[in-house]
Amino acid sequence: MSNFKYKKMKKLLTVICLSLAFMTAQAQEKKTLNVLAIGAHPDDCDSKFGGTAAMLAKMGYKVKFLALTNGDAGHQSMGGGPLAKKRRQEAIDAAKALGIAEYEVLDNHDGELFPTLNVRLEVIRRIRDWDADIVLGLRPNDYHPDHRNAGSVVQDAAYMNIVPNVAPDTPPLQKNPVFLYMSDHFKKPYPFQKDIAVIIDEVIDTKVKGLAAHDSQMFEWLPWTNGTDLSTIPEGEKERLAWLKEKWMNRKPNASTLEAVKKWYPNLDVSKVNHVEFFEICEYGKQPTDAEIKEMFPMLGSK
Ligand SMILES: [Zn+2]
Repeated sequence: MSNFKYKKMKKLLTVICLSLAFMTAQAQEKKTLNVLAIGAHPDDCDSKFGGTAAMLAKMGYKVKFLALTNGDAGHQSMGGGPLAKKRRQEAIDAAKALGIAEYEVLDNHDGELFPTLNVRLEVIRRIRDWDADIVLGLRPNDYHPDHRNAGSVVQDAAYMNIVPNVAPDTPPLQKNPVFLYMSDHFKKPYPFQKDIAVIIDEVIDTKVKGLAAHDSQMFEWLPWTNGTDLSTIPEGEKERLAWLKEKWMNRKPNASTLEAVKKWYPNLDVSKVNHVEFFEICEYGKQPTDAEIKEMFPMLGSK
């Protein structure tokens, strides 16, 4: 090959390589989605979605948690403004621990959440502002009235968020997001369906750190509600994390859990799985195919 031809070929190859790199970068960029998880209290999203959220955030997804109340009631010795302030700071610390982009806490009173038009409009604006591709909420048949009402509000927003004349100060989304329910164990009127299963073993310690950031809940309020002797809770940071992990994360997956896992990780020996988060597809909003779910949750099938 002549020197001239060689140089031309080299130039052409460089252009092809750069174009391919650019196209790959663009394709990767496209796969990055915006996710908004909505709970009633600062800690709801963390306990049901914290592991998956940490994994998605690591992949470059823009993940936000939104608590519809400020958590100013759930404590045995504190309350009101000072507790709300503490809970807001704990939420910020949890976001840092999980690596998610934002944790917003609305200033509605804990224990007094109703699915009013006002709260619905607040939620619709948050979904639009976040340009959400995936919205997660609670099911409206949970034990706690705030959880039920938070679930209803998200369901109510699932269609109304595409209506331009609703909350017209915030432009509506071009497409309706996928709405998912975070898990619970309540059976009436129907049990939670494990439609999507994400193995979170690789981030379980990150999830525990996110939960531990909610200090006044994990080490004070929740143990108090279930009769734990608070003097038995360790003081040191390492010991507290180990205590929390043992207390909340020591449940081995049951048969139905492993069945759900098998669907999404067909090549995996499921007997080695320890920690899983589940999501149910809401009938409102976009209805994703299995292929679309794999695109939204790229960690599925990757084991
Ligand atoms: Zn809660």
